[in-house]
Amino acid sequence: PVTHEDILHWLQRSAQVLHENSAFLTELDSAIGDADHGINMDRGFTAVSTKIAGVSDADIGALLKTVGSTLVSTVGGASGPLYGTAFLRAGMATSGKQVLETPELIAMFDAALEGIKARGKAQAGEKTMLDAFIPAVDAAQQAAKDQLPVPQLLQSMAAAAEVGMNATIEMIATKGRASYLGERSVGHQDPGATSCWLILQALSDTVS
Ligand code: ADP
Ligand code: MG
Ligand code: MG
Repeated sequence: PVTHEDILHWLQRSAQVLHENSAFLTELDSAIGDADHGINMDRGFTAVSTKIAGVSDADIGALLKTVGSTLVSTVGGASGPLYGTAFLRAGMATSGKQVLETPELIAMFDAALEGIKARGKAQAGEKTMLDAFIPAVDAAQQAAKDQLPVPQLLQSMAAAAEVGMNATIEMIATKGRASYLGERSVGHQDPGATSCWLILQALSDTVS
């Protein structure tokens, strides 16, 4: 199972990884956007890191809701409300839980995914964070059906997110700022799909 402490470690690790990759994410965004995705994510997760340092309550749902509201109020841009909604919904799906077994994990990821879709009105193939997250959630569902242990489930999620992230290179953006470029967005990896993979890889690296 994934414990409250695992979630705290995951969030701190995400903050570190997003900080280390801030320049890379911003470089990706400079090709097809406005060169701020790394700055946005680093600012948001630095705020999350500070905020959760003082959390003693063991409720995973409450923790994730705090992450969501912190991201909404600090990240800005398109990604702030999207990641913010994802964590808020994840928190609602795990309200009162102190540990997450596979069914709770799946419910958490499903809720996060529905949140991003509802908020951004995008679907698979539009060159967004969803192109990493949708295959990752599919992989989690498959792993659950195959009764894989949680660490393997998270590993297969991160692997699917990475494949999905790489697949954004050839996609034409039809949502967000990158859509202003139309076909000229082809050949560039989506920054949001990349941050999504980094966050899921951080989760897999935390719970192993
Ligand atoms: P902004 O584009 O406002 O500067 P960011 O650069 O922080 O915001 O985030 C850009 C990322 O947001 C994109 O790379 C893409 O993955 C994601 N994104 C943009 N619009 C949507 C949407 N409607 N649905 C899902 N993801 C989106
Ligand atoms: Mg941007
Ligand atoms: Mg911006």
